[in-house]
Amino acid sequence: MKLNPSGTHRCLYGHSWIFDNEFKKPDDLDPGAEVDVADARGRFIGRGYFNPASKIAIRLFTRSSRATLTTDFFMKRIVQARDARKSFLPEDEPRRIVFSEGDRLPGVVADMYGSAIVVQILTLGMDLRRERIVEALMSVYAPDAIYERSDVTSRSREGLPERKGDLIGSIPERIELSTDGVRFAVHPKTGHKTGCYLDQRFNRRRFAEFAAGGRVLDAFAYQGLFGVYAGCAGASEVLAIESSDEACRELKDNADLNGRPVELMRANVFDTLKLLESEGRRFDLISLDPPSFTKSIGASSNAKRGYKEINLRAMRLLSEHGILFTSSCSFHTDRESFIDSLSEAACDSRRIMQLIELRSASPDHPVRMEVPETDYLKCAVLQARE
Ligand code: SAH
Repeated sequence: MKLNPSGTHRCLYGHSWIFDNEFKKPDDLDPGAEVDVADARGRFIGRGYFNPASKIAIRLFTRSSRATLTTDFFMKRIVQARDARKSFLPEDEPRRIVFSEGDRLPGVVADMYGSAIVVQILTLGMDLRRERIVEALMSVYAPDAIYERSDVTSRSREGLPERKGDLIGSIPERIELSTDGVRFAVHPKTGHKTGCYLDQRFNRRRFAEFAAGGRVLDAFAYQGLFGVYAGCAGASEVLAIESSDEACRELKDNADLNGRPVELMRANVFDTLKLLESEGRRFDLISLDPPSFTKSIGASSNAKRGYKEINLRAMRLLSEHGILFTSSCSFHTDRESFIDSLSEAACDSRRIMQLIELRSASPDHPVRMEVPETDYLKCAVLQARE
């Protein structure tokens, strides 16, 4: 299969996506089939899998002309992903063990919680090879259970229904875990994503370094892990804001597991930040970790307004020298426009704000320089100055 002539294709620089208008669709290729991809002059680029129903019609999984999606191939990639993480994370702690394009297994995500693995299969090409993926995960990690959480709307873009259920063994409803000495529980069958936002782990750890003795606000708290990390690091008080009942129950459970009280407001962050300001409450450390405001590029100006609004409110709540950890997990909002929203928020807040750090997802969610879409999580650390 040859790409249309059109300048220099991103895949020559290591990207793995080929859109449906970038080549002539062959008639004889089955949905999900493997395909060799060459540039317009016929030079081999790599091998991918094909889905005529998807806008991303081919995803490359290798640059080798010999590799195919066998169980051995999946094992090789899973071992490469495991070995790359050894420098950053102890092997027995909860972590993402496969991150799709970030680990050159496009369409497969897997998280390890104790002796259980939760997988998400996001594309047709990988859906058809579920058994091999499971076999490979079993060979490398020998978990007690593998559970599938492919209940994600993005599967419809691949022509696939949502699905969830046990693939190996029977996963518990609740699994107790710890990271960095902080205890928490995940509910793999019902929680967000696979049960937990592991991507914020290093940011929570850094957050906790500023917490001792301070008043802490954890907004968009979900299971409360920013707040609980801060509580364990000696915060004098922790207030969490979260709108979902179920998340609030999990949050309370996590606060109890660590014996750290958290004041909990089940409320809308947008309204509550205003209210806290009018009540004169101030915080030394704030986390703002909203859900993705943009599901599509079309909505990105709304997203920008949303980010600006909450950040402006949060900046006004900072004490003198207070620190704000502000995150955006939408890959449609790139770093530049996120920083733009923060600059506008800083101007309007009438606070002097210093940018201290720009952070990313934890390294078990590899950001590949050649694939900008893997850089979805931005976390800026700002300090209020006199
Ligand atoms: N900070 C969390 C992850 C947050 S995910 C962590 O470290 O794990 C975003 C959370 O915001 C979800 O739990 C969602 O229920 C909550 N949420 C979404 N919109 C909200 C709103 N307007 N007000 C309060 N909470 C909201």
